[in-house]
Amino acid sequence: MISIGIEGTSHTLGVGIAMDGKILANERDMYKPPEGWGIHPGEAKKHHLELKDEMLKRALEKAKISIEDADIISYSAGPGLPPCLRVTAEFAGALAEKYGKALIPVNHCVAHIEIGKLCTGAKDPIMLYVSGGNTQIIGYFNGRYRVFGETQDIAIGNAIDMLMRAAGKQFPGGPVMEKLAKEGKYIEMPYVVKGMDLSFSGILTAAKNKLASQKLEDISFSFQETCFSMLVEVAERAMAHTGKNELLLVGGVAANKRLQEMCRIMCEERNAIFYPVPMEFAGDNGANIAYTGLVQYKNGAKPIEKSDFWQNWRTDEVEVNWI
Ligand code: AMP
Ligand code: MG
Repeated sequence: MISIGIEGTSHTLGVGIAMDGKILANERDMYKPPEGWGIHPGEAKKHHLELKDEMLKRALEKAKISIEDADIISYSAGPGLPPCLRVTAEFAGALAEKYGKALIPVNHCVAHIEIGKLCTGAKDPIMLYVSGGNTQIIGYFNGRYRVFGETQDIAIGNAIDMLMRAAGKQFPGGPVMEKLAKEGKYIEMPYVVKGMDLSFSGILTAAKNKLASQKLEDISFSFQETCFSMLVEVAERAMAHTGKNELLLVGGVAANKRLQEMCRIMCEERNAIFYPVPMEFAGDNGANIAYTGLVQYKNGAKPIEKSDFWQNWRTDEVEVNWI
């Protein structure tokens, strides 16, 4: 069975194609705001509108299939930015209607999890999902991906992007900060873990306030060390309480080598296995949507008649009947 997957919840427009557990194409393009600016939803939407047909064409060429060969059209239906979600839902809905294909909405967060499991072979991991819009510590239990802990304010990727933006660097800030951090030394930063939840807005303000007086390398290093320690602490507690002995790291921030190293050390110390999602599938992409849509469809998910989206659709609202 073949699935075409369309991602477009935020900055990235992607079209991926999956044939059962095989990814045949993963074409994407990220909207990049001008230096010193964040994502403008209306501009991201324009980007997606302009590129959608070309992206689909590229993915079909890469997979060497025609759209008629597909069984289903999957699309990311939330959570995300409404103007972007609307373009994605309408594009997917129009394709499904024109070509008579089943239309399957996919939760963006669940897609990040499923591609991680597919690529790494992790069986029943605690999942650390860290991206531009989301930060959650998740584990499967009794038919759902349960959220054991999450950010109480902004996502880790967003905090990194905003700090780098305040320092005049271009979006996305993650790779820039990772490079700067290599040359930095530690300065004090607030560490905020509340039970199983996290908060990044206080440390963001503290770090911004240091921009005028401290070296950006030191701020970057200290910000990473502090935030990543917070994430690893909560992930470890989730593993300890549930008895799960695998950790799967997914989402755009999973590309960070220092975060991977810290997760690996924690797992080694407790005889657990650490699985980072491959770089290609860390950030937003259409392949994870295509694959997850197919998993849902094969497990009896009903196609929807009219495309729709849900901007606050949570990970733990999805019924997971394929485990
Ligand atoms: P996503 O929303 O899943 O597409 O992920 C995008 C987010 O990942 C943005 O906030 C990026 O700054 C962040 N990101 C990408 N690469 C890195 C990296 N090497 N280190 C930290 N964050 C990163
Ligand atoms: Mg994402």
